[in-house]
Amino acid sequence: MALFFYKEKNKDIRAAAYLRLSIEDGDKAESNSIGNQRELIRDFAAERPGLHLVEEYADDGYTGTNFERPGFKRMMEDIKSGKINCIIVKDLSRLGRNYIEMGKYLEQIFPMMGIRFIAINDNYDNANTESSDSDSIVVPFKNLLNDSYCRDISIKVRSQLDMKRRKGEFIGGYAIYGYCKDERNKNRLVVDEYAADIVRSIYRRKLEGMSAQAIAEQLNSENVLAPSEYKRLCGLNYHSGFKAGTHAKWQAIQVLRILKNEVYTGTMVQGRRQKINYKIKKIRDVEESGWIRVPNMHEAIIPQKLFDTVQEVLKLDTCASKGQQTVNLFSGIVRCGGCGQNMVRRTVSKNGKKYIYLHCVTNHNGLGCSSHLISESKLEEVVLAALQGKIQQISGLEHRLDEINEIPKNERRLKSVEEHLKMLEQEEQKYQTLRRQLYEDMSSGIVSKEEYKEFSHSFNEKVEAIRKAKAEMNRQRDCLNNLDVEHLPWIEDFKSYQNLTSLNRRVLVELVESITVYDKEHIHIQYRFDQEIRNVLEYCSSVPAEETEESAV
Ligand SMILES: [Zn+2]
Repeated sequence: MALFFYKEKNKDIRAAAYLRLSIEDGDKAESNSIGNQRELIRDFAAERPGLHLVEEYADDGYTGTNFERPGFKRMMEDIKSGKINCIIVKDLSRLGRNYIEMGKYLEQIFPMMGIRFIAINDNYDNANTESSDSDSIVVPFKNLLNDSYCRDISIKVRSQLDMKRRKGEFIGGYAIYGYCKDERNKNRLVVDEYAADIVRSIYRRKLEGMSAQAIAEQLNSENVLAPSEYKRLCGLNYHSGFKAGTHAKWQAIQVLRILKNEVYTGTMVQGRRQKINYKIKKIRDVEESGWIRVPNMHEAIIPQKLFDTVQEVLKLDTCASKGQQTVNLFSGIVRCGGCGQNMVRRTVSKNGKKYIYLHCVTNHNGLGCSSHLISESKLEEVVLAALQGKIQQISGLEHRLDEINEIPKNERRLKSVEEHLKMLEQEEQKYQTLRRQLYEDMSSGIVSKEEYKEFSHSFNEKVEAIRKAKAEMNRQRDCLNNLDVEHLPWIEDFKSYQNLTSLNRRVLVELVESITVYDKEHIHIQYRFDQEIRNVLEYCSSVPAEETEESAV
């Protein structure tokens, strides 16, 4: 469209200041206040001599999604009558937020009527264009239009993908290492036996105490193809994982990714990374709480329990020193009894022999505490003995539990406990009533003060004993109620180490939560499942060993 009427652009401009504010539209009251808009437009006009502000139109509290606004309507009337020939706004969104409607005004109505339109903060002025380049008038506006269009499309695509993610359907381009896409359903993963074996071996090596770096190096020395190379070969239908030559090698980071990927437990995890928005292609990491996790979507390569243990190991490793081939036996597990911080290793050479000690890191860094020095071999010896004892105890526990569970049903036992409790309750009330009566008898002179003291003392003792018995019965009842003695997976964990003859990283990580060293003689070992173990021990002790079905009532 020709814009000849803008040629003498700063002459006889009868301008309207158009102001609009709508909190509902998300406008911020302070920055977009009517007063602010007015001031900005007045300043703008003051700097342009040919431009005269003749009228102000304000729509305070009217949304920009339509043009049903009194101020705007009055302004259009004044345009038609020729009173004004220019509209000035703070920014495009003051005119409106409905881009289709705005397009009509900006592209058709205003140009047709020869109205100049200025949006100060958007740097938009329809007079600032060459007549030959009429399209550029609407460029900023078109951008907006495109913008909303892109946004719509992007939201649609995203929500479709999200829907798939929520259903646990795999939407990635390539299957995760260890799996391939099901040929019949590309949103499903099936186990790739070759790569799955490598994944299993990576988890096994980790549990044996190897660092991610060491695992990567070992895989490379075994000529196992790195995931990217393997993927490439699979794409070429080349079904051997082994290949010599100089290709992409395994890196510690890939090993770590595999060790941390829950997908191997059969859970589909997606949405861990996302584009910032449809404009910015940059990818950002999503917080774990925002991940979309759907369990049991495909066959697991790594059992959940093993996966969990490895996550514990990885946590401990972050405390260990970097760059080592293997993680030290006690890394991240041993704490100082004085300050609760880690213990660090120190090697001391004496008469050509090397001795390894652990000591408090706080003290090592000169920040107080004391050394809490202990030799590593001594600690190993103590922990091994304790662990062997614990393993024996828990293995024996299983036998004892079997025995107890022979007694037809704990419900029966529970019933007897509850009856006992009821009886104790009645007993307690009886003595309390007696106590009250005794007091009344003393008040009315039936018993003497001395007699009262004597009886009262014995009643109190009785009530005390009853309360103790009640507490014990309650404890037994809680034990019976809260304990699922049929399902104690940790017993198997301990039992699997029944023939333990030396300490290794794996047994420590699986069975021990922490070791606190106070001094050579005082070492506290916190076992995993500690509370559960205690509950079971308590449960067992609450059932006399010789108890049989007949005597259980
Ligand atoms: Zn310390």
